[in-house]
Amino acid sequence: MGAVSAVSSADAPSAERSAAAAVRPVLADAVDVARAALDELGEGGIGAHLGVTGENDCAATHRFVADLPGYRGWQWAVVVAAAPESDHVTVSELVLLPGPDALIAPEWLPWNERIRPGDLGPGDLLAPTADDPRLVPGYIESGDPEVDDTALEIGLGRRQVMSLEGRLDAAQRWFEGYGPDSEMAKAAPSTCLLCGFYLPLAGSLHAAFGVCGNEYAADGHVVHSQYGCGAHSDTTLPTGAGSPRFEAYDDAAVEIVPITRPEPKDDETVGSEQPSGAAATDGAAATDDAGRPEQTD
Ligand code: SF4
Repeated sequence: MGAVSAVSSADAPSAERSAAAAVRPVLADAVDVARAALDELGEGGIGAHLGVTGENDCAATHRFVADLPGYRGWQWAVVVAAAPESDHVTVSELVLLPGPDALIAPEWLPWNERIRPGDLGPGDLLAPTADDPRLVPGYIESGDPEVDDTALEIGLGRRQVMSLEGRLDAAQRWFEGYGPDSEMAKAAPSTCLLCGFYLPLAGSLHAAFGVCGNEYAADGHVVHSQYGCGAHSDTTLPTGAGSPRFEAYDDAAVEIVPITRPEPKDDETVGSEQPSGAAATDGAAATDDAGRPEQTD
């Protein structure tokens, strides 16, 4: 029984034709058997025959376009088999597989590789992995003198403490978040180290980091000692500075305009109460030559 090209479609790629070159004719010719098996499956969406690929001397896979909603680029794969020297073909397996251009989901990742900072919500539990490099057993010297000395002194210690690697990683993150290279720090009048709101950390990170206690600044965040912001406790406003949203009121630029009060008519009551500021509206008596109001005792 000789080998033949088993690609049924004239448009099949040459790679497929070469892949199918070793398929036994009885398997390569079983296109109708494969299609009938898909029909019997009852899912529908069976498109054109794409080709056949030999699995071994006794098995081959026929592929059809899967014309199903949501499965763009997928293919029906039907594995047919025939015993050596036999002309009887049976169907071994039907399966829907993604083709080379198929729309498929991203590669699955376990949850502990998918989780990101900020994902933890109230009630969530997040245990460190068994070999978490950020932690070391408490009986191992952590390299943090305050932790090691205290634990040895009183014979106690936490079951795990942060490893040197873990602390260096944290320090790097904090440095990048609230460090001296940030735009805020570059424009600040002074540094956190000299700020009254700076609460230094204990332990080996004491020299470089503290927590900001200013509710109007980086409140509750770990800040580098060389970070800084405009809410520094030593910040003073420039004298004379007001809100830049409003221009200062310059009363030297106000023009005083004398207003001549009309003469009262005869039937108006003389000595009745005058409106507030009436005396100042009598032009000659209320202003000097320069138009400024005259002072009266
Ligand atoms: S108020 Fe500003 S300068 Fe002061 S500790 Fe907080 S971030 Fe640093």
